[in-house]
Amino acid sequence: MAHVPDVVELTKTLIAIPSPSQQSNQIIASHLATLLQECGFNLEQLSFVEDDQRKTSLIARKGTGEGGLGLFSHSDTVPADADGWEPFTPTIQDDRIIGRGAADMKGAIAASIVAAAPYTPDQLRRPVTVVITADEEIGYGGAKQVVAESKSLAGNWPTYGIIAEPTQMRPVYAHKGGLRVRVTAHGRAAHTSTDKGISANFLIAPFLADMAELNQLVKREKRFQNAEFDPPTNGFNMVINDGNAAANVTAAKTVCTVGFRPMPDDHREEVLEAIIASAKKHNLEFDWYLHEPFYVDRNSPLIQAALAATGLPAAETVPFGTEAAIFKDLMQLVILGPGNIAQAHTKGEWIAIDQLHSAVNVYRQLIDHFCVNS
Ligand SMILES: [Zn+2]
Repeated sequence: MAHVPDVVELTKTLIAIPSPSQQSNQIIASHLATLLQECGFNLEQLSFVEDDQRKTSLIARKGTGEGGLGLFSHSDTVPADADGWEPFTPTIQDDRIIGRGAADMKGAIAASIVAAAPYTPDQLRRPVTVVITADEEIGYGGAKQVVAESKSLAGNWPTYGIIAEPTQMRPVYAHKGGLRVRVTAHGRAAHTSTDKGISANFLIAPFLADMAELNQLVKREKRFQNAEFDPPTNGFNMVINDGNAAANVTAAKTVCTVGFRPMPDDHREEVLEAIIASAKKHNLEFDWYLHEPFYVDRNSPLIQAALAATGLPAAETVPFGTEAAIFKDLMQLVILGPGNIAQAHTKGEWIAIDQLHSAVNVYRQLIDHFCVNS
C-alpha cells in the first residue's frame, strides 16, 4: 500500500517552505521529490540556473503504457511581504488554510499528489503523471524546459492534462494569452545646466502618443474583443520606466512596455503590427513575445469528463493565463483546480479546505476514467 499523505497537512507543509520565484526552489523541490517517491512515483528532475539560482521541475509518473492523464502545477509563488500576516506560518481559520501559495498553488500540488498516491501501478492501464514546474510566475521557464528536455515524457505525453490553477473546481476551456512589446529609447544623460543631454523621454514621447490612441481604438472596437470572455476587452496596458531620472538630469534610457491579453479571433496581429510600426517609425529598439490564448473544444472528452466529475453543467472561460499556453499542443487540456484566483498573489491568501477535498475527489474520478477504466 502506497503512502497517502493528508491533503490539509501537506498543503500546510508546502506553505511553510518559502518558494518565491526570485529564489532557488531547491528546498521545496527536494521535499516534493522525496514525497513523490514515497508515494510510488518514478521521478525525473530537470534543473536550470538563472541569476545564480537553481530551479528544479519534477516529472513523476506511475503506471506503464501510453497516454493517460497528467496533473500540472507549479512550486513557485509570488513573493510575500510579511507585513500584517505570517505568509510562511500556515494557520487554519474558518475552514480555510491561510498562507502564501495556499491558492496559487500549493493546495493544488497537495491535492494532485494525494489524488494519485493510492493507485498501484498494476491498477493503472495507462500512466498517471504529476508535473510540478519551477518559475511559472516569471515566464514559464520550468514548463518550457519540461517540454524541451523531459526524457520520461518525450514520445509519451499524457493524452489528457489538467492544469490545476485555481478555478474553484470549475472546468475551464479557454483563457486569454499574453503579449508584451518592450520598446526602448536611448538618450544621453547630462545635467540640465549644461544642456548637453538627450532625453530618452522626448525620444519615446511620440510613440507614447500613438499608444494612447491605440488604447482608445482597442477598447472601442468590437473586432478586438471576444464576448466569450469576461471582460470581453483585452486589457491593453502600458508602463514606462526612465530609471527614475532626477528632474535636473536628462534620461539616458527609457523603456516602455505595452501589453495585452490576446483572445481567439481578436485581430491581435493588427494591434501588434500597429505597436511595431510606431516603434520603427520613431527609430526605437523593440522586442516582443506572445503567449497564445488557450482554447479547446467544449465537447472534448476531457471537458465532458470534468463536467461529469464536478456535476457542473458547462465549462467556463477565465481572464488569466496559465502554463496551458506552453503545453496546449502536446495534450488535450482543461484548467481545473482548487481555490479562488481572487486569492492568488494577495496578502492573507487562503484556500477553503473543502476545495482541497473536492479536488482530490474530482482528480481521482478523472484518474479512474482515463487511467484505470479506459
Ligand atoms: Zn499559479
